[in-house]
Amino acid sequence: MLSLVQSDIHRVGEVWLVGAGPGDPELISVRGLRLIREADVLVYDRLVSPQLLQEARDDAVMLDVGKRPGFHRVPQHEIEALLVKHARRGCKVVRLKGGDPFIFGRGGEEMQTLRAAGIPVHIVPGITAAAACAAASGFPLTQRKVADSVCLTTAHHSEDGDDTDWASLAADPNRTLVFYMGLASLQRIQNKLGSHGMSLNTPAALIENGSYAHQRTITCQLKEIEQMAKQHKLQTPCLLVVGNVVSLAEQKSDAVEPAAHQVSRSRMAMGRNIAAAMMLSTAPAMAGAAEADSIAEALTQGGTSISFRARSEQVDDDALARDALANTLRTRLTYRSGSWQNLSLLVEVDNVSYLGDDSFNSTRNGMVTRPVIVDPDGTDLNQAALRLQRDKLTLTAGRQRLLRENQRMIGGVGWRQNEQTYDAIDVAYRPAEQWQLNYAWVDDTQRIFGPEAGVPAASLDSDHHILNARWKVSPTMELAAYHIALDFDDAAALSSATTGLIFNGAFDVRENLRLDYRLEAAQQADAANSPVNFDVDYHHAGLGITHAGWRLGWAHESLGADSSAGVAMQTPLATLHAFQGWADKFLTTPAAGMRDNQFSVSGNVAGFAMQLHHHDYQSDVSGLDYGKEWNIQLGRAIGSRYTLTAKYARYTAEQFAQDTSKFWLMAEARF
Ligand code: SAH
Repeated sequence: MLSLVQSDIHRVGEVWLVGAGPGDPELISVRGLRLIREADVLVYDRLVSPQLLQEARDDAVMLDVGKRPGFHRVPQHEIEALLVKHARRGCKVVRLKGGDPFIFGRGGEEMQTLRAAGIPVHIVPGITAAAACAAASGFPLTQRKVADSVCLTTAHHSEDGDDTDWASLAADPNRTLVFYMGLASLQRIQNKLGSHGMSLNTPAALIENGSYAHQRTITCQLKEIEQMAKQHKLQTPCLLVVGNVVSLAEQKSDAVEPAAHQVSRSRMAMGRNIAAAMMLSTAPAMAGAAEADSIAEALTQGGTSISFRARSEQVDDDALARDALANTLRTRLTYRSGSWQNLSLLVEVDNVSYLGDDSFNSTRNGMVTRPVIVDPDGTDLNQAALRLQRDKLTLTAGRQRLLRENQRMIGGVGWRQNEQTYDAIDVAYRPAEQWQLNYAWVDDTQRIFGPEAGVPAASLDSDHHILNARWKVSPTMELAAYHIALDFDDAAALSSATTGLIFNGAFDVRENLRLDYRLEAAQQADAANSPVNFDVDYHHAGLGITHAGWRLGWAHESLGADSSAGVAMQTPLATLHAFQGWADKFLTTPAAGMRDNQFSVSGNVAGFAMQLHHHDYQSDVSGLDYGKEWNIQLGRAIGSRYTLTAKYARYTAEQFAQDTSKFWLMAEARF
């Protein structure tokens, strides 16, 4: 369907005021989603779903102007100045607002400022909280003989005196009243409506986090709203609906649960498994606020976030007599400064701790009789980078995440608790809307085995040059090319040069039937200090078909072998867990190479995002049948902050390694 909508972004320096809907990321318009994906700059509010933000381009400038506990909200005039500034720099700016931009969203003021500045401004409507909350609570806002009008109002403007026409609001029993931002004023609303003649027995509903999986709807009578909010400890965002329509709600009290949403489906449709999707969910770009006048202001304008990832991983590998169990917690603290002279700072510290005893080989704890689970404990600086953002150029210097394409060649190994990051200089250049060029020079590779020194090495001295170019040929087709020259000072066997081409995209065959495809070919040869001369090929062909929320996928991947050199294609910086099975039996490609034939199914089962994969592994030369593998995962987002995941992998060996099964339970929280 997306492909049928003509691109709105065709001129430079324009602003789109986009309604993101009430919270559920699926409740945004097709146009809104497309604009997020195309935007150069995204200026967003607190009520916008983080899953929608993940849809932004990796190099998009992300400006968080929402109110966070403990931080100051960016004042309205500064938000407007920010929109004007970025538009004047020729950017496509998307101003993403909760609900509808024109309903208590201050979209009108922003539109006026932009018009006055001569900047083209477009409005993309969104589903407002009233519509979403009523829908998700199971009552209509109007109904013949019950309510023939709706009033969207607010009780928020109390400081400058009360200019609400309470008499008129209370007068019509056939009108539904919807109060935005009313949570702090419930007592007053109750008293005022009552004293102006409305029956205190009028049905009322309080809807907290409407449309989210953790939505709560409390239905009661007008006279009880204040007491109910206290009793249930309701928190913002919360909407109050007063009127007889509420009596049509399915349940008379407490939570009415809407269907839980799942991890961004479009990411999955491109054939990335949830491991990759989760890694992409880490903030794609540094956020900032309005341009600061001084360094100090930029630093204080910044924001800090914290996330926790608790995981239990069990491994039963027949090659070892004992099993492994790792209970680990990763705590991640991230600070993003505001922007000064187009410069911003990102600092991120990770700590991995064991919960209870460690009965697994972390590669550092000496438990060599147990299977390896590479989650060593310790605290490290995961990222510390300065970013310069100027027009079409973004330069990032310092320790940083480098995720290229689908991470088959260059990635962050985000599934492990200690992420792989790079001490690097990365330059991203977007000469035009459809083009993106990236060049990175890597001085040091910070691996998942750190932070403590040991074997395998925690970091590898590097001199890598990584070049990527991507061209969006049409809304349904993309071409990408890369050249990756890896030079490891102390791991010469991993040095290589790889050049590849990717052709991928997705389109609607007909309504509700979407096809996605990926073709990739690459060639790898010895380079720099490689000890042997070799030449190998890489091929990937993938096809997916999505219907009614279910995707069926097939992929064939081959990593070639050079028999005369006794070497196979290796991708030492890839996010390998996302490829060739979650049992991770092929982190080093066997010398006879690898052919992986994979089938997958993904969709929603009882509110859980489900994935099932089957792999059949063969060698590239010598006709070996390595083995087969089943993978299954169930994941559920609980609201915007929490995720639960259960995952199982079973590798059945034929001519490579031993039978292995792995099981994971994981809970994540982000604040
Ligand atoms: N432009 C937004 C409203 C912004 S005002 C819209 O059209 O929906 C913010 C208020 O909207 C909140 O205080 C709350 O009353 C209401 N609101 C927004 N999202 C909500 C949600 N998911 N559930 C309940 N109320 C919500």
